[in-house]
Amino acid sequence: MNLDLSKVIKGLQTEATFEADLEIEKSFLESIECVNASVLHVSGNIRKLGRRYELTLSYSGDLVFECHRCLKDVNVHLQNTVERVLVTSEEVAGDDEFLVLDDGVLALMPVVEEELTLNLPLQILCNEDCAGLCPQCGKDLNKGMCECDETKIDPRLEALKNLFT
Ligand SMILES: [Zn+2]
Ligand SMILES: [Zn+2]
Repeated sequence: MNLDLSKVIKGLQTEATFEADLEIEKSFLESIECVNASVLHVSGNIRKLGRRYELTLSYSGDLVFECHRCLKDVNVHLQNTVERVLVTSEEVAGDDEFLVLDDGVLALMPVVEEELTLNLPLQILCNEDCAGLCPQCGKDLNKGMCECDETKIDPRLEALKNLFT
């Protein structure tokens, strides 16, 4: 989604507002290992602030990930309001904290994707106490123990053990 800010830049408007439902790109979802996502509702405005511009962006949406331990789907609701300073390309910043407007256009999606990435939980679990899957048979241990012998001894240790019996 591209926002044309030429009117604000020329001083014909004091602010530009926007509101939309955005489809998050598949390639981005894959890069954050997200298996599914709702549309992302975004809204906000851009105001002139001296020689610069200020973007206020609100977003909310649901992203589905696999639990890191048991692979069950986990819904993560992401919602936030952020502010970013924008500069025009003439006022070259060379500074990462500013977003540069090329030809008076702001590409919103990269900003949204960056925000989503920054706000993802570090570890996604269906439940803090998730028992995970058995590494041998793959059974979901949240649904009960499996038949695997937990005391199964590493074959290298087995050889040692035989020395003592
Ligand atoms: Zn889990
Ligand atoms: Zn097992």
